[in-house]
Amino acid sequence: SGPELAALVAGGTVDVPDFPKPGIVFKDLMPFFGDGPTFRKVVDGIVAHYGAGAFDVVAGVEARGFLVAAAIAYATGTGVVPVRKAGKLPRPAFSAAYALEYGEATLEVTEGAFVPGQRVLVVDDVLATGGTAGATMDLVEQAGGVVAGFTVLMELGFLDGRERLSPRKVHALLTV
Ligand code: AMP
Repeated sequence: SGPELAALVAGGTVDVPDFPKPGIVFKDLMPFFGDGPTFRKVVDGIVAHYGAGAFDVVAGVEARGFLVAAAIAYATGTGVVPVRKAGKLPRPAFSAAYALEYGEATLEVTEGAFVPGQRVLVVDDVLATGGTAGATMDLVEQAGGVVAGFTVLMELGFLDGRERLSPRKVHALLTV
């Protein structure tokens, strides 16, 4: 159930104050990822939320999004496409720049990674301001994919990322 899955995510999270900079409370989900039964239940919960056949491929955002994306892809027999930080992909790539708290960052996806019209489930571990998610979904569309959904394990509700991403739909297992 929803509350059960939310509790599993919460139980596997350690709050780290002032990382990576003063004033930020970093949500470290590594205990969650390290707990096999919990990880499986939550991945199965995400798959059940969308239902069979709702997407053709999963895109994960570097780096922790890769962990979630690969597991969902394996569970559903779909492929996985990495959305990477600038400069990591060896072949020509589409790129999208977005604002961070200080300065900006760029994400990239390889040209031809999606078959035109392919339905893409976009996943990441944490939704904060929504900058990363917005850039990722723009990038997926630039690369010819159709965003079928966006899922995170945890949403930081007070940062209003969900509102910023509207009208795109956000599925979060846990909102804090
Ligand atoms: P944003 O673009 O502001 O929504 O930030 C989301 C990205 O930064 C995701 O890839 C998260 O993994 C990471 N992130 C942002 N804030 C946190 C936080 N407080 N704890 C853990 N990860 C975070």
